[in-house]
Amino acid sequence: MSAYFQRHRRLRTTAAMRNLVRETYLHTNDLIYPIFTVEGENVKHEISSMPGVFHYSLDRLEEEIQEVVELGIQSVILFGVPNEKDACGREAYAENGIVQQATRKVKQWAPQLVTMADTCLCQYTDHGHCGMIHDEYVDNDSSLELLVKTAVSQAQAGADVIAPSNMMDGFVAAIRQGLDDAGFINVPVMSYAVKYASQFYGPFRDAAHSTPQFGDRKTYQMDPANRLEAMREAASDVAEGADMLMVKPALAYMDIIREVKDNFDLPVAAYNVSGEYAMIKAAAQRGWVDEKGITLEMLTGLKRAGADMILTYSAKDAARWLKEQN
Ligand SMILES: [Zn+2]
Repeated sequence: MSAYFQRHRRLRTTAAMRNLVRETYLHTNDLIYPIFTVEGENVKHEISSMPGVFHYSLDRLEEEIQEVVELGIQSVILFGVPNEKDACGREAYAENGIVQQATRKVKQWAPQLVTMADTCLCQYTDHGHCGMIHDEYVDNDSSLELLVKTAVSQAQAGADVIAPSNMMDGFVAAIRQGLDDAGFINVPVMSYAVKYASQFYGPFRDAAHSTPQFGDRKTYQMDPANRLEAMREAASDVAEGADMLMVKPALAYMDIIREVKDNFDLPVAAYNVSGEYAMIKAAAQRGWVDEKGITLEMLTGLKRAGADMILTYSAKDAARWLKEQN
């Protein structure tokens, strides 16, 4: 009988055997934790659509950073929610902008932590778009100048990685040139190379107060139906000098993660976005899914798909669970 079929179950007989043949491992080193900073004092407000994720004012941020460090997480990405917004997002590139201040603080408290800065304008513009508006259209080239100013000011504040999320054409080349001219030749660019115009960003827009006040982001973010276009976007960013490539969102785009990984030889990041996080939290709170099991399975799946690193709001939970397992 055994001559006619394979006994795959031989390699699954015990936990030790399964560990021996496991192909993919999730490690705390793989995780990048997104943090939202706000102006004001003594603010630690939970974001209602993202349980367990908070807005922090700078005087409360240290407790969060200490927790991240204690959990063994080695990388964070900072987002800022300013008080003042205007048409050209001035607070994005202000020397004392919220992200610039937060970056200086984090590097002071935890110099070893890889501190990434999100480089975009949408949290800072009163219209909520990621660039400058001309005749109700997001103008590409004038936006680049402001994004370069933002990136350079973030590097000046001590950011270890610049992470532009704006999806303007030529943003990597412009930012690379700007960083080099300002003397930051060793600051890498983690490009949001493949970013889709997705419904999975809903809770983030709540958190970052960055909902567009008119229209949508479909003229600059990608159509979820497209795969080949993702390869063109990634190829441009590689040619422009990106050091890492990101795919965002993660779960509905695992084929794209795999394809970017197979086609380019740069490290690939997957952004496990707010909507993905919120769905699991909501289902877990109702007792419909096991949060720990499903979260670790999802993150492992993203690694299996080809992600070398994962930006995830579950980073602290995952780090805790991974510690328990060891
Ligand atoms: Zn944006």
